[in-house]
Amino acid sequence: MTVPPLPRALAERPRDATYDVPVPFACGDDALGAPLKRRVLQCALSRVCGLCGRSLSWGVTFVGSPAEGEAGAFLFPPSHRECAEAALLLYPRLGVPVLGQDAPLAEWAVLVTGGFELVRPASRQGDMRVRFTANSVSERRTVAV
Ligand SMILES: [Zn+2]
Repeated sequence: MTVPPLPRALAERPRDATYDVPVPFACGDDALGAPLKRRVLQCALSRVCGLCGRSLSWGVTFVGSPAEGEAGAFLFPPSHRECAEAALLLYPRLGVPVLGQDAPLAEWAVLVTGGFELVRPASRQGDMRVRFTANSVSERRTVAV
């Protein structure tokens, strides 16, 4: 499969040595893996893209599981639309959990929103991950990979 050229800022990210793909900003600078909490918070508070790490403009895109799409609440930080489109061509085909997921997905939700809020875990028990809730959804679709 041919992957179209990546957005430059994403292409310039450090590469994962195993899969030869750019490491998403939210996952650190070393290897493809689960998002790092400090990077996730940085994305939220500084409004930078979870994929390329550059500033977001108005309107952001979330990608996640169909359940996350329906709930409008995501584990992976917001990104540029171009970065999100590129990510869905790049990462799911690796067959490993990516973009904040616990398992590989066959179908992804894509949601575009004008705004989002960061939701911290309510208690110190259970899932301690922060989530992003979309509050002004302008587009919602699912993509099979
Ligand atoms: Zn980006």
